[in-house]
Amino acid sequence: MLPHVTTLSEPLTRPMGPKTAKALEAAFGMQTVGDLLRHYPRRYYTRGELTDLSSLREGDHVTVLARVDRVSTHPMPGRGSAAARGEVVITDDRAKLLLTFFFRSPKSQWTIKRLVPGTLGMFAGTVSNFRGRLQLVHPEYEMLPGAPPNADLTPELAAEFATEMIPVYPASAKASSWVITRAVRTVLDPLDVGEDPIPAEVRERRSLIGRAEAIRAIHRPLDPDDLKRARHRLKWDEAFMLQSALAQRRLAAAAMPAMPRPRVAGGIADEFDARLPFALTAGQVAVGETITADLACAYPMHRLLQGEVGSGKTVIAIRAMLQVVDAGGQAALLAPTEVLAQQHYRSITAMLGPLAAGGQLGAAEHATGVTLLTGSVGAAARRAVLADVFTGDAGIVIGTHALLEEQVQFADLGLVVIDEQHRFGVEQRDALRAKAAGNRPHVLVMTATPIPRTVAMTVYGDLETSTLTELPAGRSAIATHVVPAADKPHFLERAWERVREEVAQGRQAYVVCPRVGDSSPGADDEDADDLGPDAPADDFGDVDMTGGVPRGVVGTRRQPLSVLDVAGTLAAGPLAGLRLAILHGRLHPDEKDQVMRDFAAGEINVLVATTVIEVGVDVPNATAMVIMDAERFGVSQLHQLRGRVGRGAFPGLCLLVTEAPPASPQRERLTAVAATLDGFQLSRLDLEQRREGDVLGAAQAGHHSHLRLLRLLPDEDLIGQAREDATELVTADPHLTAHPALRTAIDELFGVQAEYLDKT
Ligand code: ADP
Ligand code: MG
Repeated sequence: MLPHVTTLSEPLTRPMGPKTAKALEAAFGMQTVGDLLRHYPRRYYTRGELTDLSSLREGDHVTVLARVDRVSTHPMPGRGSAAARGEVVITDDRAKLLLTFFFRSPKSQWTIKRLVPGTLGMFAGTVSNFRGRLQLVHPEYEMLPGAPPNADLTPELAAEFATEMIPVYPASAKASSWVITRAVRTVLDPLDVGEDPIPAEVRERRSLIGRAEAIRAIHRPLDPDDLKRARHRLKWDEAFMLQSALAQRRLAAAAMPAMPRPRVAGGIADEFDARLPFALTAGQVAVGETITADLACAYPMHRLLQGEVGSGKTVIAIRAMLQVVDAGGQAALLAPTEVLAQQHYRSITAMLGPLAAGGQLGAAEHATGVTLLTGSVGAAARRAVLADVFTGDAGIVIGTHALLEEQVQFADLGLVVIDEQHRFGVEQRDALRAKAAGNRPHVLVMTATPIPRTVAMTVYGDLETSTLTELPAGRSAIATHVVPAADKPHFLERAWERVREEVAQGRQAYVVCPRVGDSSPGADDEDADDLGPDAPADDFGDVDMTGGVPRGVVGTRRQPLSVLDVAGTLAAGPLAGLRLAILHGRLHPDEKDQVMRDFAAGEINVLVATTVIEVGVDVPNATAMVIMDAERFGVSQLHQLRGRVGRGAFPGLCLLVTEAPPASPQRERLTAVAATLDGFQLSRLDLEQRREGDVLGAAQAGHHSHLRLLRLLPDEDLIGQAREDATELVTADPHLTAHPALRTAIDELFGVQAEYLDKT
């Protein structure tokens, strides 16, 4: 009889039997052998971790393998009636060690439920001393798979756990680490992975071990080096499949037809250039030339334009849109917030002057129509706008995501510009792109949140990138300072004095708060028409980078400061007598627009606002910004906010007010923001503190689940190499005809249609 052979694409029910297969599917969505084998261990227990309990010293961080000896709970009178202390004694059969747990309520005692006397576990924590006894307080622990209750820690048993590296899998109530270990063993022995999807030349060039070997070793490493080689190879798998798929997409996109929109001499674009009140920077000229050439191509442009806040991206977008208008097409500009869409509309119509009066009496010769479409446009006006868009009378259409609605139909959409890309998902980019009948439109996405190279290579893997590195001449420096409101209250007084000084000199200021205030919790800060703040990160520890509340010491003490409260306090105290106004997402759009107009006109001294002013708001006379509870904002967000000042001839001042204690991570983050104006450096810092899933997931839901091992920052070089090799291979063999194993692996990893890839 032939020995049974397992393949990666085989359903789990065959080697496993229905019961385990069902449990694995319910717990992790695993369906195939490949799914199971891509469920990599979370960590490994090795011999080195076995610790002689008598050798522990206070202050050491230790991981010990030991047996649970005794478990008891004791009430803690004086700490609330439900409070209790759990005492667990563990032993290595020579010495003993105390584990202490504190419970606020009986419910939280589930933490130690699994600590049954006689069972074996690994316990990790820092050794402390309590009245002469060494202990671990709230240690992390993992009960060993299959640890028989009441078994003695015999030398044989200890040896079994000590001789190999014991894999510990991400487990769930439905499937323990031990169940997974057993399942993996079942499929690993008869496994035939088939031909290696990474071609031999690449494996040789990059010193990669074979795939079969790597899969075996990540589940059953012989030693740490064995494991290291396996992880490296499997990271390469992920990077190489992804980059091959992206390279295929780039080629396919280049083969897609688009209407060429070459620059027409003597048209509206030329007139606009002639009217510009300033000279373009060298960077603006260079990027402009690139885009002009892109638009003239018969395949769609996919360009990402990154540039620091204030670097002048909008002018580039306008010039591109006008080129398309001259060539007979329409252009749409999608902005993430109503405030920003309105601002774009105002500044574009102002810059175009008579050129924007298309269809009106006395319009300039080449004039086109410019329209604004947001959720707050009334029914009658909306009908008129839709008609202009449909007939093509509107050459330039500016709007929020109201533009994405089905009723919005273009006569001939030639260019889609997406401002502040980080606020949009790919779905939105797609929805707008789909509005070009027949041909694909050219796409320009702009972002002031710099995207590290490594993210550009993965999430935005099929976009060409241009970067504006210089700011227009005449920009002033922004000084940023951390204002520790808790330990140095007079610093805050001084901050308000500085605001008064700026106002006395005719300048204006922003005060930013994390919350609107005066509402039911949870409904806060969401802007009905806007896309709102980034989705909250799930569970990456103490610091929520998306402007949420750090779940550490600081965050729980009081509610975050609100626009309404702070505005009231300032008006009655430190900023009494100044003209204050508030701006937040819950104001009526007309009101928001009015406030922004008044602020731009200098009729308001100080604007107290939420992050609705985060992106794009451009009032050069505003020189000071005070950010309250600054630790509640993410690094990139702070950088964005700060970009609202220092946009004119006067130096900018940004004050980060915080009550976070001096040595806390939150405070360090703020210090880092204060220390540099380099957006790229800050975006790396941001990325380091996020989990990959947040970055990838925000852009492409579901995508990140395919990347198990790859880390965007630490693996930057690896991703770069994989991109090189994959691009070379795909360019030579676009359909991977000579590489069927690679084609299959891509399908296995990303699904046959590689759906998510179609979204970029
Ligand atoms: P961002 O890149 O942040 O979107 P904007 O496009 O809003 O920047 O430009 C910021 C300001 O700088 C605007 O008021 C714009 O008119 C002005 N600006 C753009 N380019 C130049 C230039 N070359 N010289 C002077 N000012 C410029
Ligand atoms: Mg902008």
